[in-house]
Amino acid sequence: MNNNQNTCLSAEQITHMLKDAGLSATSQRVGLCKYVLCEARHPTVEDVRNWSETQGIKTSLATVYNTLNALCKAGMLKDLRFPHMDKVIYDNNIEPHHHFLDEETGNIIDIPEIDFEYNNKLSHEYEIHDVDIIIRGRLKN
Ligand SMILES: [Zn+2]
Repeated sequence: MNNNQNTCLSAEQITHMLKDAGLSATSQRVGLCKYVLCEARHPTVEDVRNWSETQGIKTSLATVYNTLNALCKAGMLKDLRFPHMDKVIYDNNIEPHHHFLDEETGNIIDIPEIDFEYNNKLSHEYEIHDVDIIIRGRLKN
């Protein structure tokens, strides 16, 4: 489980961030940000839009997309690409961590950063910026 206390922002903070990003801070957009930053777990853009529809918030996919991009640019959200999906997944856990994919349910679970030994040929030639590890499996029967 990730701890999102520090990424949960007040409506005022979200309003400020949206304005900095050049987006109008409509109540729909602020609500959307709150959901993505505080409640959602690794949603796709479609997941966020489906959520907004269940809330009675009328919004276009483009608006959702622009809003999520603004959060990414502001460093509050990470966009992830996994080899098993052709869609971008948004992650509100911005601490370094890896992922476990439950192949039966499709759930993506955060796992803590693993100490990874970089003492290999790669690190002689390249500087490493980020390490993304995805572990796949399923519940034992
Ligand atoms: Zn994650």
